[in-house]
Amino acid sequence: MSASAYPSDRSGPGAVAPSHDRVFDVAPPDELLYSLSADGKRRFMHPVVHKGHYWRIRRRIAAALMVMFFALPLIRVGGYPAVFFDLAARRTHLFGTTFHPTESVVLFAFGFAVVVTVFFVGSTFGRVWCGFGCPQTVYLEFLFRPIEAWIEGGPARQRGLNREPWSPRKIRIKAFKYGVFGLIALVMATNFVAYFTSWSALGPGLLHAPWQWTSALFTIAAVAGLIVFDFGWFRDQMCTIACPYGRLQNVLADTDTLLVAYDTARGEPRTRSRELRPGAGACVDCNACVAACPTGVDIRRGLQVECIGTAQCVDACDEVMRKLGRPTGLITFTSERAQHGGSHRLWRPRNLAYLALMVVAWGAFAVLIATRADALVEVVRGGREPYRVLNSGDVANQQRFRFTNQLQEPQRFTIEVLEPRDISLVTSESPVVVAGEQVVTVNAVATVPRRRFTDGQANVRYLVTSDRGFRQEIDFLLLGPFGPPGEVR
Ligand code: SF4
Ligand code: SF4
Repeated sequence: MSASAYPSDRSGPGAVAPSHDRVFDVAPPDELLYSLSADGKRRFMHPVVHKGHYWRIRRRIAAALMVMFFALPLIRVGGYPAVFFDLAARRTHLFGTTFHPTESVVLFAFGFAVVVTVFFVGSTFGRVWCGFGCPQTVYLEFLFRPIEAWIEGGPARQRGLNREPWSPRKIRIKAFKYGVFGLIALVMATNFVAYFTSWSALGPGLLHAPWQWTSALFTIAAVAGLIVFDFGWFRDQMCTIACPYGRLQNVLADTDTLLVAYDTARGEPRTRSRELRPGAGACVDCNACVAACPTGVDIRRGLQVECIGTAQCVDACDEVMRKLGRPTGLITFTSERAQHGGSHRLWRPRNLAYLALMVVAWGAFAVLIATRADALVEVVRGGREPYRVLNSGDVANQQRFRFTNQLQEPQRFTIEVLEPRDISLVTSESPVVVAGEQVVTVNAVATVPRRRFTDGQANVRYLVTSDRGFRQEIDFLLLGPFGPPGEVR
């Protein structure tokens, strides 16, 4: 469908021309997805940038997030990158604290805290994350689109170039654009891989022995390809079709959730007159809000799932209102309740419950971190059989002791049996020396007099200590025969 298939039906004397004179920025009919034209082809968005209040805030946030993304694997805290998912050693370093996969309680507390934070932010502030903090929006609107505008020109030129038949000039421009996108994607992808390998290993590795880093090279190439695909072509469809967060947002939102909305009472009926005539609405139907939207939404149609809360329409409309000498805020952040004349309630039972859970979850996480022991010691059964009756009549149980040293310094662990005292414990190593932040598993055999077993079970209490002051008592259940000597069941 040609762009002129979406004409505005409002005109007349003293009419305000559609903003930027682009009828192709008028949203498609209701029954069509914004990203589709009537013939089913992709409708590419070329949003017009209005450097208004919210755009400036978003630019600052975007700059901070980009700097953070590149800086975190470079800054070192406690001898490791500030954020380092060390896949090879199966541990995670976060700002000087090392986590092992065995710390299931801490990891659960962290995961739960993240989930309830998403619930709280989503129910209170709507899609503010999508519009202001999501990497998809941040990198598309503040890195890739500005580069595109630098190479191809503004939105009107970009559309013109796309409509042109392929020519050496068009191929040159597109090849240059995708070349620059590819370079940026490679830098981003390499930095992404550094989160899992560390720059100190990846940098020299790629420089001096790249053939030994084929997995990293493959990952960098794949991630860079995805980045170019997403930020060069897929773009708004990531938010409107692929990303599940928008759907989750529908569940989290209520009538008090913050959203970007058009003030229908003030804006309607639209008129293109510069003068505000009696009975006329404030909207001059210039379509600047639609032209500014990165997902092509016409926010005047009400709340829509495609709206990702960028506030680009707010900046566009405020600029139009200022030019016309009218109050700004025809499109603004509000809530459904406020839209219908009620007063916006920031706090209500639902988001207060999320907030309470959030505080508890992050509090629990903080307490778990603050009270972390210097080591984790776990005992599990070993061997193929639950127990063995020895010729002496005693009963042997195989076990495995797993030591996770949570200090950066090595620790020497010893195990002793606290009770009952007549149990002998033989370990494959003693003392067990575990290097800083390493995990070591040793085999052990506990030999127990048969009289200690009642109903096939005997309790034992171990004491594990280390030369660094670590001390932990561990209760363990040994297995043995049910009946008296001579009767094995
Ligand atoms: S409608 Fe407005 S807030 Fe929503 S995505 Fe479009 S420009 Fe952003
Ligand atoms: S809401 Fe504002 S920007 Fe959108 S068409 Fe009306 S006047 Fe123009």
